[in-house]
Amino acid sequence: MRLFDLSGKVALVTGGNGGIGLGMAKGLREAGAEVMLSGRDRNKGEAAAKSIGAAFHPADVTSEADCAALIAAAVARFGRLDILVNNAGMAARKPPEALSAEEWHKVMDTNLTSAFLLCKAAYPHMVKAGGGKVINIGSVASWLAAPHMAAYAASKGGILQYTKVLATAWAKDNIQANCILPGWIDTDLTRAARAQVAGLNEAVLARTPAARWGEPRDLAGIAVFLASAASDFVTGAGIPVDGGYLARA
Ligand code: NDP
Repeated sequence: MRLFDLSGKVALVTGGNGGIGLGMAKGLREAGAEVMLSGRDRNKGEAAAKSIGAAFHPADVTSEADCAALIAAAVARFGRLDILVNNAGMAARKPPEALSAEEWHKVMDTNLTSAFLLCKAAYPHMVKAGGGKVINIGSVASWLAAPHMAAYAASKGGILQYTKVLATAWAKDNIQANCILPGWIDTDLTRAARAQVAGLNEAVLARTPAARWGEPRDLAGIAVFLASAASDFVTGAGIPVDGGYLARA
């Protein structure tokens, strides 16, 4: 369908070497975009890229130099940049009183500051291309909280607000910015959470109206929508993809 066609567009997906990032990247490739994946793990990244016909460039998104080099690598490889998916993320599962400043900064740098740095570096290329799409990955924790989410929920609330700022600042450049709020998706991140937090699996299934964990593939459709012309009048939104989790009181 032409409304969702991404032929001729170039997308960069951070944390694209697995989990939700790879699920979204597959969707973008299927819609016709050229895709560059990124992550720190080169072996995992190259295998993931090969599996979907994408390129891979290693980067640690907590490094400002790596962020600048990553944007430059995408433009050098494909000649332009239209779609930036800020997906790289991590969690530190501790209550506020137990979290160290170092742990706080690591989560903030990975989940929030990276989006700021990558957006800044991508901006001139999107302007040059005549517009662009920023897709930030928030969480149901952009809205909700739990005792062990001190830094994580703060970073995910922050990225939703940052997305709204981008939407207001860059509308003049035909750049739309939106934030996806995934519910509980079965990935390495949440497998670790299930191992650490007693009763999490049962609690997620009980609260999610769809009564299942999401799969990375469940994020492909929203990524294509937000990357395509179909969403040209959608900006500054936080869109849950959560099987109804946020809707339940
Ligand atoms: P994964 O742990 O499977 O993936 C995380 C990705 O981020 C990996 O590709 C990892 O690659 C990358 N990454 C982590 N730290 C860095 C870093 N410093 N520099 C570069 N890349 C980094 O988790 P998910 O797929 O579950 O998570 C993806 C996003 O979705 C995150 O932002 C997460 O907060 C969010 N999310 C996930 C939910 C879920 O239920 N799974 C729910 C709501 C939001 P590498 O290790 O190679 O660097």
